[in-house]
Amino acid sequence: MDDSHAVVVGGGIGGLSAALALHRHGWRVTVLERAAELREVGAGLSLMANAVRGLDALGLGPALRDGGHGEAPGGIRDRHGRWLSRVDATEMVRQLGTTALGVHRATLHRTLREALPASSLHTDATVEHVEPGPDHAEVRYQGPDGPHTLRADLVVGADGLRSRVRAQLWPRHPGPVYAGSTAWRAAIAFPDPVPAAITWGPGAEFGMVPIGDGQLYWYAALNAPPGGHAPDELAALRERFGDWHDPIPALMAATPPGVVLRNDIHHLAVPLPTYVRGRVALLGDAAHAMTPNLGQGAGQAIEDAVVLGAVCAAGAAAVPAALAAYDEQRRPRSQAVARASFTAGRFGQQLRNPLAVAVRDSAVRLIPARAALRSMARYADWRPPVG
Ligand SMILES: Cc1cc2nc3c(=O)[nH]c(=O)nc-3n(C[C@H](O)[C@H](O)[C@H](O)COP(=O)(O)OP(=O)(O)OC[C@H]3O[C@@H](n4cnc5c(N)ncnc54)[C@H](O)[C@@H]3O)c2cc1C
Repeated sequence: MDDSHAVVVGGGIGGLSAALALHRHGWRVTVLERAAELREVGAGLSLMANAVRGLDALGLGPALRDGGHGEAPGGIRDRHGRWLSRVDATEMVRQLGTTALGVHRATLHRTLREALPASSLHTDATVEHVEPGPDHAEVRYQGPDGPHTLRADLVVGADGLRSRVRAQLWPRHPGPVYAGSTAWRAAIAFPDPVPAAITWGPGAEFGMVPIGDGQLYWYAALNAPPGGHAPDELAALRERFGDWHDPIPALMAATPPGVVLRNDIHHLAVPLPTYVRGRVALLGDAAHAMTPNLGQGAGQAIEDAVVLGAVCAAGAAAVPAALAAYDEQRRPRSQAVARASFTAGRFGQQLRNPLAVAVRDSAVRLIPARAALRSMARYADWRPPVG
C-alpha cells in the first residue's frame, strides 16, 4: 500500500484498537494521547462475545483469553441471592461460538499497546484542533516541546466521552448528559470461585466478574445526584450493600481502602446524525458513549475499530467511500446498543419503586430460559467483516 497515514486522537481502548486495526491493514498510524503515560484507569471489564470476536480479528484473542477469565455471564439475582434469570452457559457458548471474557482493563490496554509499533504512540500530546478537509485532514496538538501540526489521510476521533473532536466538528450536538446513576468499581484479589453475575435491588445493582489470575472485578451502581462523594466510599457502600447476599459483603471486606473508583454515569442521550466529517471519523465513546448496563461500551469501540480497519483496507485514496461505509455499518448498530443499554438501566438498576421492583422480578423469573438467552445474546451475536 502507498504511505497511508492515520492520526488517532486518544489512546484509550477505542483509539488503540483503531490504531491496531488500521496498522494491520497497512496504515502508518500516529496515536496522540494527552495523558503523560499511556495506561487505562479503572478496574475490570466484561467483554461480551462480540468484543471477544473483535479482539480475535485484531489478533489478540489468544493473549487475552490467557490473561483474563472466559465465562458466559451467569445471570441475574435479587439481593437475597435468589436467581431471577440464569444463563445456560453451554448453550450460550454454542450459539455465540465463544465465551465472554472478564479482564483487567490494564491487561487489555497493555495487550493493545504492545501490538502497536512503539514509535506510533505519543503521550503528552493534547489535540486542540482538527481540520477535516476533503483531500487530507490536519491535526494541531500541543506536544511536550510545543505546538505541532500533522497532516493525515484519515483522523480518528477516539477522545472519549468529552471528545474535543466531536465538540469542534459537531458544534450543535448537546454533548453528554448525566444518566441518573453513579458507579463504584474495584479490582481485588479474590481467589474463591464466583460466577459472573449481577444482582438487582431497588435503585441499585451489584455486579461481579472474575478477571483471571485470582482477581475479581466488582461494581456497584446506585441512583444518586451527580457530583457526590463520601469521605470513605467503601464504608458508604458497605452500609448500602452489607446485607446483600454472599459473597457481596465478603467482596467488600476483601477490598483494600483507596482502590474504589467512583464515577457518575454520562451518556450521549442525543444520537449523532453521522460519525463522519470529511476525513474525520468518530469512534468509541466519542461517537456513542453509553450507560454500562449491557457491558458494551468498550465492545462497541472494538467493533468500530475492526470495521474501520476493514473498510479502510484499500488505503488513503478510498477514504471518503470507506468512511461512508463505516458510518452506515456502525451508526445504526452502536446507537441501537446504546438505546438498549439505557433501557436496561431504567428497567434494571434504576427501578426503585418496591411494587415495580416486585413486578419486574416476578416477570423476569417467568421469562423462559430460551427467551432470556436470546435477549442476552442479541447484541453479543456480532461477527467481524470477512476479509
Ligand atoms: C462504570 C463503567 C463500567 C463499564 N463497564 C464496561 C464493561 O464491562 N464492558 C464494556 O465493554 N464497557 C464498559 N464500560 C464502557 C467503557 O469503559 C468505555 O466505553 C470505553 O472505555 C471507551 O473507550 P474510548 O477509547 O472510546 O474512550 P476513553 O477510554 O475515554 O479514551 C479516550 C482517550 O482520549 C484521551 N483524550 C481525550 N481528549 C484528548 C485530546 N484532546 N487529545 C489527546 N487525547 C485526548 C483521553 O485521555 C483518553 O485516554 C464501562 C464504563 C463505565 C463508566
